[in-house]
Amino acid sequence: MARRFIVEEKDIKRKNDQEIEIMGNEVKHIQVLRHQVGDEIVVNEYICKIVQMYPHAILLKNIGRTKEEGVPGIDVTLYMAMLKNDKMDLVVQKATELGVKKVVPFFSRNVVVKLDEKSRAKRIEKLQKIANEACKQCGRTDMASIESFKELKEITNDFKEYDVCFVAYEQEKASLYTTIQKLKSFSNIKKIAIIVGAEGGFDQAEVENLLENKNMNSVSLGTRILRAETAAFNLLSIIMYEFDDKEER
Ligand code: SAM
Repeated sequence: MARRFIVEEKDIKRKNDQEIEIMGNEVKHIQVLRHQVGDEIVVNEYICKIVQMYPHAILLKNIGRTKEEGVPGIDVTLYMAMLKNDKMDLVVQKATELGVKKVVPFFSRNVVVKLDEKSRAKRIEKLQKIANEACKQCGRTDMASIESFKELKEITNDFKEYDVCFVAYEQEKASLYTTIQKLKSFSNIKKIAIIVGAEGGFDQAEVENLLENKNMNSVSLGTRILRAETAAFNLLSIIMYEFDDKEER
């Protein structure tokens, strides 16, 4: 199997039906690996032949699609409050392995991290790289995308587009188990959002605001208070187990 490279959409220029030009970090990576004109490589989910190599770009001919592997059977977005230090890196890496399709980092009242616009853009770029590496490492042929930072109040309207949403709320009494059992009995659930708070947790008003969406469920993950990153892995693993019927058991 040819070596696989992950190239973000912004670094792909479509020349015609068959040819694409790629730019960005993976160009350097391909050059360092001493690939040459005529070599076959995989770019995202496409098998390509190298047509021309330039100092900062590579022209490729698309010659087919790879066999789909490791692609989750449901579409899960993780809305994750911004965490301190490198905890967000860990969340993105593990969530990608577990099958998340999209991560939306957000700022809420109790988030302690402060980032200016420039640092936000850099942080997203780094998180996207981590997601790309995790896709490669775990053998997923699709990609997980990292959205730019949002404020919690900005994303409230996003939730209409999901079949069901779960917010992990440390003060909640309703268990995730009971909520899932109720939901599974009457609907075909394919598009799911999960929302996890920061180290400082959610304010009650924030959760009440989220619950104005009729497809939003506030759930408890048990009687122990989990670290935010643990809560994300726990909730995501359970959601994948319960709703992704593509996974063989
Ligand atoms: N500072 C909060 C407190 O002391 O109550 C704890 C916040 S917790 C470290 C971070 C996030 O993880 C929470 O906002 C929530 O989304 C999730 N979380 C942690 N434990 C949870 C639990 N037992 N049930 C539901 N969500 C939980």
